[in-house]
Order: sequence, then C-alpha cells, then structure tokens
Amino acid sequence: MEYAIDVGGTKIAYALVEEGRIVAEDRMETEQEPPAAQLGEVGRRLQAMARRAKAKPNAVGLSLPGPVARDTLLQAPNLPKGWVGQKVADYAAMLNLGLPLFAQRDALMGGLGEYAAGAGKGLQSFFYITLGTGIGGGLILDGRPVLGADGAAGEVGHFQAEARGPACGCGRRGCVEAIAAGPSIERAYRGRTGLEIGAREIAERARGGEAAALAVYRHAGRALGVACAIVAQVANPQAVIAGGSLAQSLDLLQPSLLQSLRQRAWAANLPLPILPAQLGGPAPLIGAAYFARRGIEHN
Ligand SMILES: [Zn+2]
Repeated sequence: MEYAIDVGGTKIAYALVEEGRIVAEDRMETEQEPPAAQLGEVGRRLQAMARRAKAKPNAVGLSLPGPVARDTLLQAPNLPKGWVGQKVADYAAMLNLGLPLFAQRDALMGGLGEYAAGAGKGLQSFFYITLGTGIGGGLILDGRPVLGADGAAGEVGHFQAEARGPACGCGRRGCVEAIAAGPSIERAYRGRTGLEIGAREIAERARGGEAAALAVYRHAGRALGVACAIVAQVANPQAVIAGGSLAQSLDLLQPSLLQSLRQRAWAANLPLPILPAQLGGPAPLIGAAYFARRGIEHN
C-alpha cells in the first residue's frame, strides 16, 4: 500500500492506493501559500486516512505539474510561488510521513497509472498524451518510465505543429497546445462563429454535423497527429493512450489525427493505434503509487 498525492494548479488530491486500486481518496484546494503548510496538512490527513483504513503504507508517490530532475521541481507555471526549486527531500520533510518519497511529472504519472491498471496494461511501450486545458505527454518504453535529462521527455505540448499557427501562451506560435488544448479549440470556434461555448458543447455540435465545429476538431486532430508522428519516429511505441477531459472527443479528433500521422511517420512505425485512457482523473494518483512502489523495489 502506498500514499499518493497529485498536486495541481487548483486542487491537491491525495489517496491510499493498493495494487492499482484507490482505497480512499480526498482532495483540498491548492492555496496561494508556500508548500510547507499545504503539504503538512496533506500529511496529517493522509495519516488519519491510513488510521481509519487500518493501513500501513510504505512509500509516498507525488505527482507534480512540472518536470522533476536532479531531485528538484524545475518549473510549474500553474503552482503558487514557493513550489518550484524545492528538492524532493524537502517535500518529504514537509509531509512528515517518515517514508521514502518519489516524485515525478503528472503526465508521466498518468501514463504509469494506465500502465499499471488501465489501457496500458499488457503494453510495454506507449506514449501517454493528456488532452485538457493543456497538452502533456509521458513515455513508457520497454516497461520503464522515460524521464529524460530534464524530466520532460514526451512533453509535446509546446512542439510547433504549424509555423504560422495561433499564438501560444509560451510566447511562440503554432504549438500543439495552441491548437488542440480545450481553450484553444474554444478560441478557434469563437473566431469562426463569434460564439463563446465550451469544448464539450462544440464536440456535440460537431457530432451533429456543424461545419465550424467539425473544422476546429479536425484542425486539432491534425496538430496532435504531428506530435504523435514525432514520437512514433523517435520512440517507436506500440500505441498512443489519450487521457484528459478532451479524450472524450477522441472520435472527432481521430480521423484527422491518423491521417496526419500517416502523412508524416515512417511506415515501419505504423500503424499506431490511438487508445482512450481508462482511469480518468485518478490516473496520476494510481501512477504515483506505482512509481513509489517501483522506486522502493529498485533501491
Ligand atoms: Zn507554446
């Protein structure tokens, strides 16, 4: 049994996880305060949770919204001041659980969750891509999570899919995220129709055959295909597993995604099936627990 914590820009979810299954779970808001107070509170709540469940976890997995390398959270634009630059050992001290702590980026943890208990079960190599308010990615290759030199292997969100594409929050143009993330789809639809509606409602309109809605999803799928083609070429995965809220619109994204992929990737790396993730929101928690268990076994 492991403790698992998933820190996001708006909420912190925490859980007890056993063999890929969440035994107990709760959450709190991410406060605009330094991490010590917040994680101290999470640690106390987790201990109470374990007491109630009569559980004795032996490690902690921590999912963070940014790359972790050299035992440090290197960046996390969505977190309050004070989180970035902390050492993993500092987080462990703040939690005060007296257990070994293993931390990694959320998209990689999500992929590990799918590997341990979801759509990646039985696969050895796959690319996990999260489609939501941002686009993230993580690689599992030959049964191992790929970290990379700066903890950012597989992060395709700011890969440029179109040289003259829409402006991106990162300051450049045409990033996959600027075309295919939820807010980007909404912006593109607004540009075409003047209507301010959410990505899910746009998807409903696309399913009903509305041309403008179909066009923005087709465009998003093409950009995702560019990202998947690069990954197919470099990492040769068996499949892509798509998670995040927009993965529910995979039916709309898939045709142009696969077409764009076929145009770009070498035949030896195809076909590359695009599978929907199975775990939903708890994927990073389940992955964090798996990462912690794996960390203990490998140490
Ligand atoms: Zn960008």
